[in-house]
Amino acid sequence: MGNPTLEQDSKTSETSQMLTPQPPPPYSTLNESGIRGSPVNVDDLAQVNSVPSTDNVTVPESVAHLKLISAIASLRDSVMKTNNLFGICDDDARGFSDSRKQAQAAACIKEKRWAVYVARAVERFTTWWENAVPTLETTEISSLNTAETKIAWSVDMLPPFDVIMVWHSFMLNPRAFLEDCLRHRKMGFWATGLPWNIITQSLNSSTYQFDPGEEARINFEKMCDRPWDNLSESPVKSLSCLKCNEPLTAPWTEGSFGCDPDVAYAHCKGYADKSMRVSCPSCKHSITHDGLSVQAFRKDVQTLLRDGLPMPGTLLSMNGTPADDNTFDAVSFPNRLIKEGIRSEILQVTDRTMNEDSTIGLIRDYLENCVKDRSLIRRVNGKIITSRNSTTAEKVSLRNMLSRYWDNPSIFSINLIGAVIRQGTFIEKAEKIGWIRSPTLEATIGHFVTKYGSFFQIISKNKGHAVVPTLDVDLIWHTHQLSPARYFRFTTSLTEGIFVDHDDKVDELKLNDAFVWTSLQYQKITGGELYSECTCWYCDAVRETHNRGFSRFISPSVSSAKSNATTLHKRNQSIDSKETTGPHLSSHNAVRIQARTDPLAIENQNARLKSALDKSSRSSRNMDEGRDGRALNGPFMRDSKIHPDIYPCNPVCVSTGLGSSGNCISGTEGIGMNRGACVSGTAEPQSRGRGKSFCAGIAGCGMSL
Ligand SMILES: [Zn+2]
Ligand SMILES: [Zn+2]
Repeated sequence: MGNPTLEQDSKTSETSQMLTPQPPPPYSTLNESGIRGSPVNVDDLAQVNSVPSTDNVTVPESVAHLKLISAIASLRDSVMKTNNLFGICDDDARGFSDSRKQAQAAACIKEKRWAVYVARAVERFTTWWENAVPTLETTEISSLNTAETKIAWSVDMLPPFDVIMVWHSFMLNPRAFLEDCLRHRKMGFWATGLPWNIITQSLNSSTYQFDPGEEARINFEKMCDRPWDNLSESPVKSLSCLKCNEPLTAPWTEGSFGCDPDVAYAHCKGYADKSMRVSCPSCKHSITHDGLSVQAFRKDVQTLLRDGLPMPGTLLSMNGTPADDNTFDAVSFPNRLIKEGIRSEILQVTDRTMNEDSTIGLIRDYLENCVKDRSLIRRVNGKIITSRNSTTAEKVSLRNMLSRYWDNPSIFSINLIGAVIRQGTFIEKAEKIGWIRSPTLEATIGHFVTKYGSFFQIISKNKGHAVVPTLDVDLIWHTHQLSPARYFRFTTSLTEGIFVDHDDKVDELKLNDAFVWTSLQYQKITGGELYSECTCWYCDAVRETHNRGFSRFISPSVSSAKSNATTLHKRNQSIDSKETTGPHLSSHNAVRIQARTDPLAIENQNARLKSALDKSSRSSRNMDEGRDGRALNGPFMRDSKIHPDIYPCNPVCVSTGLGSSGNCISGTEGIGMNRGACVSGTAEPQSRGRGKSFCAGIAGCGMSL
């Protein structure tokens, strides 16, 4: 398995052709003059002021973000198309006689190359984070808004592009990113955000080649002891045996495609494969992902006992802000439990020489028994809490802590491979719509920023309710999260202290209800503007549900919404392109919850929406053939291309079925995790507890204790 070089030059033209559909239509509220004019200069629009005067998002940042998105899409495309990369060969698809299976296999082959590339990128990001990102310790976020605390990024300090891509995806998980910056003393990194100007400067606008110059390369290679190019990395990953500690290596990927495209690569045994299994040459112990997760947990326990560094999941309050005097005791319970109660026991449970087969699931069982032990809890809590049992908040905190290790052997609180892969679906959709090629780019983005303002107004006025973004709103939301300190100030001031998370994991059935609700709120507060400026049957049907009724009196906002919808349809009809797509509901952060989302329930929901549409004036439309080809998928089209068996962690699924590791410790069911199980993340603990809120009963990331 060598490291063939990407043929960047020959690919670029092909890539940009594939990624360049017609310019998108302008949006309803925009001045339509100049639509057919020449494309705007993206670099002129992406000049980001280093000290923005507002905590809200600016247009230049969003344009710079679009440019970054296009560059990531271009990189992904060239990695996927490079035959024999990481030894993954196009020929493997030829063995299938059925043409449908052949096409499916070809898609899996591309996806697998990207999976291995991303796994390597995450390793490289980790090294860069540990060796090159400056350290600054503070938990006082209010003290961070000064020049001294911020990193003065220069082009020479930039890492390679694949590392920037991981950094980007990491930040789109605001609470996880804050927690890790706090734990790893990287608060200057957090406060500074993504340095837009120097990143866009180094990105060629037409080829999307990233080149910050020779000095950057030398610095990275020196500080990280890794090659600048992901593809020049070693073909094996270095590890040490979990049992005898002898050094060993694991190939990134090893094994064959398999005989069924539905479970392609499921049995591969490399480090970036689902079923990793590497045998130690000295003691024959098998190294697996789960074993590595136990080791990560054990290391954190040791660091807690030695240096007092809190365990992951024990730093943020339920609101996602750093724990204060009021919340500290409950949030830090797991640290107390480990230090005062089970210090030597937990080290035994996680010791490979004593317990060869210990897993995160077994650690959960052990901790579950601990919290049932009243005298132990009394001893651990000492004088802090008078109640004899461990409180719900403490159990939630324990659950938060363990959730960090589920499917995640990394030093971070989330598996960044999954984070990058989930982002991929958003990036693909944004790239397909092609905002960046719009001749009215500046006005279009300005309009999105305004929409985002209304979106946050809905969040702040409806605490506890899930608020679902459309793709355009999500673009601005993502842009905001890439300046974490400003995003933090913005959301905590609008919501009385909640650091609104951008959660990845939502039951798609509930996502749909929440989307219909959000869309109606938007129409109301804007006096009839359209939330989803998309003309697929689903978005039409959602609009229709807001505006039907038998009353003879139609409110001004409803009549305005109806005329806006007609204008939208006329405009889209005038654009003669099958590729035309509007910013549909942003569902990249919806996941199928194993054993919970009933396919029949989704079908019924779609049938209800279609019947609403039938009764409307547009009933003559052929609903099965939307102009954008999305009709059959309904709103949920994001994960059709992600095959979980291809990855070392499952990027798109949450397992909450009975008996699975995702089950709750008694007493915590129905309580959203700290990491938030809501789209908007504002659901309050109390409402979660009652089980009425959107996120009730959903545990994130398959692990909830
Ligand atoms: Zn060994
Ligand atoms: Zn739509």
